[in-house]
Amino acid sequence: MQIKNYINGEFIAPVSGEWIDNYNPSNGEVYGKIPNSDKADVEQAVLAAEKAFTNWSATTLDYRSNILKNISDLILENLPELAEVESKDNGKPISLAKEIDIPRAASNFQFFANAITQFSSEAHESVGLHAVNFTLREPVGVVGCISPWNLPLYLFTWKIAPAIAAGNCVVAKPSEVTPATAFLLSKICEKAGLPKGVLNIVHGLGSTTGQAIVSHPKIKAISFTGGTKTGARIAKIAAPMFKKLSLELGGKNPNIVFADCNYDKMLATTVRSSFANQGQICLCGSRIFVEENIYEKFKSDFIDKVAQLKIGHPSKNDTNIGALVSKEHLEKVKSYIDLAQEEGGKLLFGGKRVEVDNYENGYYLQPTIIEVSTNQCRLNQEEIFGPIVTIMPFKTDDDALALANDTKYGLSATLWTNNLNRTMQFSKQLKTGIVWVNTWMLRDLRTPFGGQKESGVGREGGFEALRFFTEPKNICIKY
Ligand code: NAD
Repeated sequence: MQIKNYINGEFIAPVSGEWIDNYNPSNGEVYGKIPNSDKADVEQAVLAAEKAFTNWSATTLDYRSNILKNISDLILENLPELAEVESKDNGKPISLAKEIDIPRAASNFQFFANAITQFSSEAHESVGLHAVNFTLREPVGVVGCISPWNLPLYLFTWKIAPAIAAGNCVVAKPSEVTPATAFLLSKICEKAGLPKGVLNIVHGLGSTTGQAIVSHPKIKAISFTGGTKTGARIAKIAAPMFKKLSLELGGKNPNIVFADCNYDKMLATTVRSSFANQGQICLCGSRIFVEENIYEKFKSDFIDKVAQLKIGHPSKNDTNIGALVSKEHLEKVKSYIDLAQEEGGKLLFGGKRVEVDNYENGYYLQPTIIEVSTNQCRLNQEEIFGPIVTIMPFKTDDDALALANDTKYGLSATLWTNNLNRTMQFSKQLKTGIVWVNTWMLRDLRTPFGGQKESGVGREGGFEALRFFTEPKNICIKY
């Protein structure tokens, strides 16, 4: 697939003529090229967005809403192709792309098509002062959206949909590792009637394209999802330029299991929350803490269930675990398995690279379970972002809470219990942006989404996203 930039409604090559290879993780082969866009390309995209902004920001909410709905419908119409392309580009099982990634990308547009028609501003009557205040919510202008490779179209559209719904024009960059469905999205947007220049997609490396977006003075807000280190780098450039910043970063999420939970439901969900998408979801519960009286039972049942997962080519319908996204990422993830031995962790299951028949050079790794005896080890403190979980027993509620919060991250936590008092205590005291109780990754798009501590700044989702992509302006009228 020859991927091009989408700027001002045109599909164009990068000004520099520089291209980078796009790999297929299922077989390790290069299967296409993408532009490595630089400042010159980003400049073109910003000019197009700036030009389109005057008209787009003045359109009615119904007009914008209809176009977003068209995009959503077209994503669903093209679901089989988009799922196939996503699975090939990322290595994720096709079933996951069909059931989760692509439907969610459609929902993102559908949701914000509706949300923008319900988004309203506040009015405050200054009683006794004979004045009334009302707040305008104006689009920010040209905004930048930068997304990662793990849920490519899902996260890319999670930013673009609210940005354009609120009347902004966008310069967006998908991950250079998984650019394909973003390219197809540009074609869909064109077909859906999105005016040219409202969405511009520039492809390339973080250090060239991403950096050019973040440092462009006319881009007034940056919505970023990716690693914590990258987030810090972006903040360093964007903060002194006084850009609005939304940073959705890494996680090291605890999965806390109490003996009084619904055991079967917990076990099945824990297999998913550990290894869905090869463990490459920022919300995966990579640190599993289990109450000591069910620890041995959990350990053997969990290993049994995980052993049943089928590792295979991503295009096969019965594959549960596909390929990791890249060779570099595979090496990074594997290095933690070696580290486990140095740190005194016990390998309970997995740990080996897998050669799938006919795809021996693909980036496959067994789902891996490691028993640790302390939370103070790199395995439990660093984000691995792959099919590795650690397990460890705990004695009391206080112990479990302390272990869960003992990390620099604070994205999500999952709690398994049927005790109401404990549910409330943990919900209040867990230092995370999201707490799931007796479930995992159940998403209501109206809810605030994001992390505390080094997992990020700001929240996406619902009206939070529309607030981020608008500037409030208070008008005070004296009468
Ligand atoms: P990454 O930080 O390497 O890259 C993310 C995006 O930023 C890519 O498009 C990349 O090209 C770009 N980028 C890299 N350097 C840049 C720079 N200096 N300036 C501007 N842009 C730059 O992350 P990744 O490896 O693609 O994704 C994995 C990470 O994303 C994990 O840490 C994961 O936890 C995180 N993540 C977080 C969430 C969330 O909602 N909190 C969701 C998914 C993934």
